[in-house]
Amino acid sequence: MLKIGILGGGQLGKMLLQAAANYPVETFVLENDTECPAAHLCHHFTKGDIKDFEAVYNFGKGLDALTIEIENVNVEALEKLEAEGVKIYPKPSVLKTIKNKILQKQYYQQHQIPTAEFIVTNSFNELTQQEKFLPAVHKIGEGGYDGKGVQLLKTTEDISKGFNAPAVLEKMVAIHKEIAQMIAINAKGETALYPPVEMLFDPVLNLLDYQLCPAELSTQTLYKVEAIALSVVRNFSSPGIFAVEMFVDKNGDVSVNETAPRVHNSGHHTIEAHYSSQFDMLWRIMLGYPLGNTEAILPSIMVNIVGADGFSGDVKYEGLEEVLTIENAFVHLYGKKQTKPGRKMGHVTILSKEKQELIHQSNKVKRTLLPKA
Ligand code: ADP
Repeated sequence: MLKIGILGGGQLGKMLLQAAANYPVETFVLENDTECPAAHLCHHFTKGDIKDFEAVYNFGKGLDALTIEIENVNVEALEKLEAEGVKIYPKPSVLKTIKNKILQKQYYQQHQIPTAEFIVTNSFNELTQQEKFLPAVHKIGEGGYDGKGVQLLKTTEDISKGFNAPAVLEKMVAIHKEIAQMIAINAKGETALYPPVEMLFDPVLNLLDYQLCPAELSTQTLYKVEAIALSVVRNFSSPGIFAVEMFVDKNGDVSVNETAPRVHNSGHHTIEAHYSSQFDMLWRIMLGYPLGNTEAILPSIMVNIVGADGFSGDVKYEGLEEVLTIENAFVHLYGKKQTKPGRKMGHVTILSKEKQELIHQSNKVKRTLLPKA
């Protein structure tokens, strides 16, 4: 049986382990928090820091393969493990490029992948000299996540919100739709594309909030989206699963925002709504099995369940019983003990042929199921 490790033990790790239970594989998790969502579903749990060289190297050296559920891991340790024959999904070279938003943008540019025009600012002082580039979006090179490393700079007054660190300053796109394309690629270079999803964001928290699958796109735009996603993953030359986040503007032009080289929030609905989920797919890739069927069984909406405003502490789920009576809803609670405003505590996927029904039920879920303390 192959021994495969996951760096990080959050909800993505947990759902990956749920899918692993269907296959002959021995699973390992490295994570600092012994009470994390994935801690009790793996065969072997190791407490340790995924950003620490020694911790990652020692964890990985006896294993056949490793994957990640977050990009912020020690890449040097993964490079050493790769050199010693451990398979890493995605390759450390890909992680290096993606972890840093400057390198990531330069990668798109080098491979003629459409992305918003940008310049690099190395300090706050350099940013202040770029007034003419506004309106723009300032994105910190390393260390930002879930909207925390991103500032919208619409006018010169906003410049003070910028980062005093190496960052990307990119032109603000007149976004018509934000979409994500999940795409899988195996060691032979065979690919499988899921139908793209369409996202809406909570304007306050800047967290992915609710998401429709399939995205409503013209055939022409869909082809562009698929071609771009294929170009992103083919040029990486690494097996794995990827979420390519893109913007569609009013003219139907498509540009890449960013790519996650791993299972992703925008693929949660695939657990129930598609024949092979993103998690199932990654195991197929890592275990050398045929790629799965990405087709939708039914259209779906996925709602993130985030900690209610004004509540921090031991979580209690208000409205859970009511949501569990919705016949076409699938509830996932991640098992986090503590809630705080905006923390991702779970998600609910709703399936229906009718878009109106999807919207109706997802709004009901969002209003009803509230993690409070
Ligand atoms: P994170 O990695 O923190 O999720 P993103 O790069 O995805 O950050 O940006 C967060 C959000 O900011 C995006 O989902 C989008 O709504 C907005 N945004 C990012 N880049 C641009 C852009 N060039 N133009 C307009 N809005 C943008």
